[in-house]
Amino acid sequence: MRPIRPGDRGPAVTEIRTVLAGLDLLPPADGAQLDEFDSTTERAVRAFQQSRGLSVDGRVGAETWRALEAARWRLGARTLYHAVPEPLTGEDVRSLQERLLEMGYDAGRADAIYGIRTSRAVAQFQREVGLTPDGACGPHTMNALRRLGRKVVGGRPQWLRESDAIRQSGPTLVGRTVVIDPGHGGTDPGVVVPDGTLRWTEAELVHDLASRLEGRLAASGVRVQLTRGPAPGECLPDTDRAQLANALGADVFISLHTDGHVNPAADGVATYHYGTDNGVTSATGERLAGLVQREIVARTGLRNCGTHAKAWDLLRLTRMPAVRVEVGYLTSPTDRARLVDPRFRDRVVEAIVAAVQRMYFPIERDVPTGSIDVSELRAVVAAGTVVD
Ligand SMILES: [Zn+2]
Repeated sequence: MRPIRPGDRGPAVTEIRTVLAGLDLLPPADGAQLDEFDSTTERAVRAFQQSRGLSVDGRVGAETWRALEAARWRLGARTLYHAVPEPLTGEDVRSLQERLLEMGYDAGRADAIYGIRTSRAVAQFQREVGLTPDGACGPHTMNALRRLGRKVVGGRPQWLRESDAIRQSGPTLVGRTVVIDPGHGGTDPGVVVPDGTLRWTEAELVHDLASRLEGRLAASGVRVQLTRGPAPGECLPDTDRAQLANALGADVFISLHTDGHVNPAADGVATYHYGTDNGVTSATGERLAGLVQREIVARTGLRNCGTHAKAWDLLRLTRMPAVRVEVGYLTSPTDRARLVDPRFRDRVVEAIVAAVQRMYFPIERDVPTGSIDVSELRAVVAAGTVVD
């Protein structure tokens, strides 16, 4: 189809404007200009494309049209079910997933795709409220959801359910798959800092960290895969990195970055996990982020900049506990001096290995931060005991 573009008029433009207004990207209908693709419409289309990760050209071609179609659905307007091979997508699916997650059902990420995991979560909900557990969300299930209203909220039940699944899988790291994602690469060096005759790039530093982490995890019997080599031809987009981790069936996903800021006084480490502004969060992701953050702070003395929920593609599209760590600021002279020291990088790596191990310890047998001797992990796990 020919893209609908600025200057066009007609019913298709009206439809586009209606969807954009429903998403609060346009002011509500304003009479005469309703069917005209004006500059306000173009700005709204660009904002929409940006928010959906589409190429931003301000025109409505086939891809943007499909995304707008998906965006117009409101929860309850149609029956949702697990369709194969083309799953249903839309804002209504995302609303349902967020609702399920709030109530403690493991619907995976709120990625707006009605996949098998969403279907299972719906079936579990149906079973618990006495409906036929067919995994489809039709009028009866919608009624049950409405009746419950907002009474059932909070991540606790889900936290228990997810961590139960992890607990049942036992404390061993042997045979697990960890995908390590060194950020940037290729034409994108990340943060770059000239330092005398030297030049430090984030892409190189985090690849070194990733290789060290790979070595330590592999020594504990973990299957490790990196998302890129030391000098890739181009920079892999975050969506591809997430898809790679999904395709490998990773148990844990760790993305490594260093931060940068115009103010050289900015320093410290921060860890990010999946979550949205309205409090929906990946419980296991949040737990892993907390462990990574605490272990790194305890073992390296980097300033604690905390853990934060973000809805970034990398965290949203990965289907396993996923974190992104910003290990210090390359633009901070103190952080940089530490990061360029290989012994310091080894301490960072030990902290991350300890955090991954603690993910799999039963809560009641968890150990104090900074107490795991990473070099003895394998023996400790083999003996079935945990250091206190
Ligand atoms: Zn980065």
